Amino acid sequence: MSEAFARPSVGAVGAGKWRVERPVVDQGKCILCGLCWLYCPDGVIEIEGGGVKVDYEYCKGCGVCAEECPVGAIKMVRERWEL
Ligand code: SF4
Ligand code: SF4
Repeated sequence: MSEAFARPSVGAVGAGKWRVERPVVDQGKCILCGLCWLYCPDGVIEIEGGGVKVDYEYCKGCGVCAEECPVGAIKMVRERWEL
């Protein structure tokens, strides 16, 4: 399976340091079903080379991907910004 980022290449709004949590994928648990790619409202998930990649420049930390993952492979982790 290979699904590229669905976000627009021009005009997408990046995430700021206001993001409270970020999704972290346990690649060992992932079954490559593609649901996180399908449901991410910002289109910042890519599935390629047998793994899931999140573009943290644009991810807003909404947690939809973690909610939708059927095997619990995505955990939301508190951000630790250097301010
Ligand atoms: S936290 Fe939200 S914006 Fe970030 S990858 Fe998951 S669904 Fe997409
Ligand atoms: S929803 Fe979960 S199992 Fe499916 S591709 Fe995403 S991380 Fe992998």
